[in-house]
Amino acid sequence: MSCIFCKIIRREIPGKIIYESDNVLAFPDINAQAPVHFLIVPKKHYSQLGEIPEAELDVLREMLSAARQLAAEQGIQERGYRLAMNVNPEGGQSVFHVHLHLLGGTPMGPSLTG
Ligand code: 5GP
Ligand code: ZN
Repeated sequence: MSCIFCKIIRREIPGKIIYESDNVLAFPDINAQAPVHFLIVPKKHYSQLGEIPEAELDVLREMLSAARQLAAEQGIQERGYRLAMNVNPEGGQSVFHVHLHLLGGTPMGPSLTG
């Protein structure tokens, strides 16, 4: 499996892991778009949101749990932050392993796209 996020999950390429639970991992985005920019990923490979079977959607709950815990740790829970998931080409997805962007530390603006 040549997926870059799977390689990070398997610790085959160096990366700073900032959060880990049973089924989820988080690490800084390599090309940060905000002072806080983390990627929260399921450890199991799903290429995009639509590929997660209904029976396995609990992993999204675990990703949201990671997101709000990380936001609190970063001191941005009250100020606010943005969670974004790009899905497939027209959604702007470029890495085909499901991931949630956690962005914050600066006003994100009213735009849906950032
Ligand atoms: P997408 O455009 O698919 O929603 O987001 C993919 C994100 O993955 C981009 O923000 C990009 O900067 C990030 N990214 C791509 N390759 C790597 C990598 O090797 N390591 C890390 N930490 N982030 C990456
Ligand atoms: Zn993967």
